[in-house]
Amino acid sequence: MSENKQGGGSPGAPVRKLISTSATKATSSVLPYQTPRLRDHYLIGKKLGQGQFGTTYSCTEKSSGNLYACKSIPKRKLLCKEDYEDVWREIQIMHHLSEHPNVVRIKGTYEDSVFVHLVMELCAGGELFDRIVAKGQYSERQAVELIKTIVGVVQACHSLGVMHRDLKPENFLFDSPSEDAKLQATDFGLSVFYKPGQYFSDVVGSPYYVAPEVLCKRYGPEIDVWSAGVILYILLSGVPPFWAETESGIFRQILHGKLDFESDPWPNISDSAKDLIRKMLERDPRRRITAYEALCHPWILDDTVAPDKPLDSAVLSRLKHFSAMNKVKKMALHVIAESLSEEEIGGLKELFKMIDTDNSGTITFEELKVGLKKVGSEMMESDIKALMDAADIDNSGTIDYGEFLAATLHVNKMEREENLIAAFKYFDKDGSGYITIDELQQACKEFGLGEGHLDETIKEIDLDNDGRIDFGEFAAMMKKGDSGDGGRTMRGNLNFNLAEALGVKDPASDSS
Ligand code: ADP
Ligand code: MG
Repeated sequence: MSENKQGGGSPGAPVRKLISTSATKATSSVLPYQTPRLRDHYLIGKKLGQGQFGTTYSCTEKSSGNLYACKSIPKRKLLCKEDYEDVWREIQIMHHLSEHPNVVRIKGTYEDSVFVHLVMELCAGGELFDRIVAKGQYSERQAVELIKTIVGVVQACHSLGVMHRDLKPENFLFDSPSEDAKLQATDFGLSVFYKPGQYFSDVVGSPYYVAPEVLCKRYGPEIDVWSAGVILYILLSGVPPFWAETESGIFRQILHGKLDFESDPWPNISDSAKDLIRKMLERDPRRRITAYEALCHPWILDDTVAPDKPLDSAVLSRLKHFSAMNKVKKMALHVIAESLSEEEIGGLKELFKMIDTDNSGTITFEELKVGLKKVGSEMMESDIKALMDAADIDNSGTIDYGEFLAATLHVNKMEREENLIAAFKYFDKDGSGYITIDELQQACKEFGLGEGHLDETIKEIDLDNDGRIDFGEFAAMMKKGDSGDGGRTMRGNLNFNLAEALGVKDPASDSS
């Protein structure tokens, strides 16, 4: 069996276009009210960052001259009704939490025919890991300060009935470059309101940080404490606690792997820190420490427990590696996601129509069963049922067109030679056959990523040490299931089995 390395992620531009003119009944507006035009009130500046759904720009309020950040979400990226609701929920939750000092403050929302814009406080101090790495030295006591903020945000979310669901270092930014900058939680795109005792089943989150009960499709707010525990483990060691070459391997580790407190640097880390991590990474959510309890743990509460002596420099260099690989891979994934051909989608549309025999726009269990038979599959009822459940992101009992595309579209896409070539060409601006530091720098600028440690990044990817990246090295990086994949957010991406069952795979990948 081939292991699946495929993440969910946002299908590229053409997909959305096609959808809005056909199968799903997408609503045309996100906000339940009309807004003024963004550009009447703000001047849009340079790009700050690229997320899975939105692109963030700096902007200046015309009336005050104040700087803000504007996250613009292209509506073509919103696949179905649920995606529209998700964005609206993200906005509501940001408002709901905006009084918290460590939650980025939302200032206004704007919508036009093409975008939804979220104007918020500007975080000019960069990402969590970059800051630590830039400082060059770092102690347990400094890690306490960071995790106290992160768990504090979790506790605030939970006390307001919000589950974050996507806690990871990339979603924490510093508000300014100054020494005393505040750490801010920025991305509530997967957050939901919950009631005590309510269980959720959508598999969302990001590979390294996802809690075991999410993978088992029955979970509550305890998952955020788990994710914060993963962040803490990385903060102290520079590597994630559950690691493997492939995504499914990472999931297996999360479900069954043993926590490593033996390798370096753990012998030099305080017992109290390990005790807290064990309690946060307790697999049984009922026995896991709560956010409030974690804040009362001696390692966090008593500021003499965590030693102030510098951590081993290897921790910092691993942290640097972890965050640098994440970035390059994230850029490449984005380039690939945008380069999808209409042709490819056309074929899936035909397949959907073929299965959806009554033309209702949704596929029922019966239709899927018949459809699978038509393509020559002899699956058992129970397996078909499981497939159906996996692809049915919104638990409606049927698969709509958006879900169908999400489940089938990205199979093998990452590893397809032509897509890797396209991504490579994107970076290799002068067509020399190599990606150089200058070119990587250029790409980072385009993606608003800052330019820290690119030489180190290249070294990691550059297997033959000639100071540049050739296609083989690039492909090797992309095919590896490690570091880079951890950055992506999954939105119900365990759906790949449907594609497999339907035989949706691309000819290019058969050669291997
Ligand atoms: P997505 O939901 O698409 O992942 P994010 O909210 O994570 O979008 O934003 C994408 C990127 O934009 C972030 O990784 C970050 O680099 C940048 N960004 C987001 N919010 C801010 C902000 N308030 N200030 C500065 N940069 C931001
Ligand atoms: Mg994000």
